[in-house]
Amino acid sequence: MEKPRRPNIIVLVIDTLREDHADGLEALRDLGFIKYENAIAPSPWTLPSHVSMVTGLYPSQHGVHEAYGVYAGTMMELSRQRMSKLNRGIIGELMEEGYSAYIISANPLISAAYGFGGVTEGLVADGLCRRHSECRDYERLITALSRREGYLGAAAELIRDGELRLLLSGLRMLTRSRLRRLAGRLGLHDPTMEKGSLAILDFLRGRSFTEPFLMLINIMEAHGPYTVKDMDLRLTVRAFLEAVFFNRLDEEVANLNRQSYPKHAAYAARRALEIIHALKGYLDRSLVIVTSDHGELLGDGGVHHGYFLKDGLLRVPLWVRWPSWARPVKQEGAFVSLAQVPSIVRGAVNGETLSLGSDVVLAESFGSPNRPESFYREGELPREALERAFSHRVRVYSRRGSATYNVRAGALEEVSGDAQELTKVVMEVVSGLAR
Ligand SMILES: [Zn+2]
Repeated sequence: MEKPRRPNIIVLVIDTLREDHADGLEALRDLGFIKYENAIAPSPWTLPSHVSMVTGLYPSQHGVHEAYGVYAGTMMELSRQRMSKLNRGIIGELMEEGYSAYIISANPLISAAYGFGGVTEGLVADGLCRRHSECRDYERLITALSRREGYLGAAAELIRDGELRLLLSGLRMLTRSRLRRLAGRLGLHDPTMEKGSLAILDFLRGRSFTEPFLMLINIMEAHGPYTVKDMDLRLTVRAFLEAVFFNRLDEEVANLNRQSYPKHAAYAARRALEIIHALKGYLDRSLVIVTSDHGELLGDGGVHHGYFLKDGLLRVPLWVRWPSWARPVKQEGAFVSLAQVPSIVRGAVNGETLSLGSDVVLAESFGSPNRPESFYREGELPREALERAFSHRVRVYSRRGSATYNVRAGALEEVSGDAQELTKVVMEVVSGLAR
């Protein structure tokens, strides 16, 4: 029997792109992509959602998720450990089968520091760098900065080590970022649009990759900041925490985001198409998945992302282009969870027919990924608000409707559909997770 041909795997994640703001992706149809309906993100924020996408596990199963006291450093360590234990899911599996792996990300959470390492080549394309060589400098500069107190200390170290070129590169990026901010304040330029895609395109264009390969790309253009005002993100994070802990909606932030988000989402979709075009030479030999890791709330049940289990966060676009020799797979179940990405990849690699979709999918939250202590004074946050916010909740989407179940309280919080039927579905799902 003939061995199945092994396709390249390209997964392009347009970070923070809501399904109902993804019309710009319709152009993918002309490139041979198929749209799948009711795709649901397993988590309302980046890290757990991506870990699900590569491991095929829901957050409570892979263990990389928010919890009280688990912020930045702890989360980084936790993610690295769990990802290593899980062999980085489909990334590790395919590498063992001879695939090269490239992780090209504008989101620092999708990097070696969080367990997405050990690949053929990785690139963290922070919005500050325009060319990919500059992004390499940026990564080294961040390391130098993390060893030293402040810019001056880091600069002194670079001079001592004879790293003048690196120092100049850093100064160039710093100056550019200051100028962009100034131009933004003067209204001459919008510094909130470009967040790394240019460097990613620079990396992809005019070079060849060792086939077969798996390539995971994350672009950040649909992610905040959306306005010059919230460029340090504190405004948005504060508004987010107010909604999480006190159920208070900051109308000003919600309005600003409502007005500016659509423009950013459309821009992100255009950049995504440019990236697909940059990979044109590979498309026929590849399985290409274009999706998002979560959406963004624009006052519809909260603001920002993380914590909330709302449609605006959990419904994501999903487009797939099958390799030229494979028959495109029809959607069978009513929903598709992004936790099914590894099985879609596996099916394409093994040349097996697979069923895509499921009649019950879910999303989970365990609390706020942002540290509340840095925003509230001692005693300002009632204990009961903390406990409520940091309880495990599961949102279930099924043919019977959808519901959010609070595991700690043992109660349904939000139901649309037949409550009695949904209770049965939810209890089955939750007991399945515990096993
Ligand atoms: Zn994200």
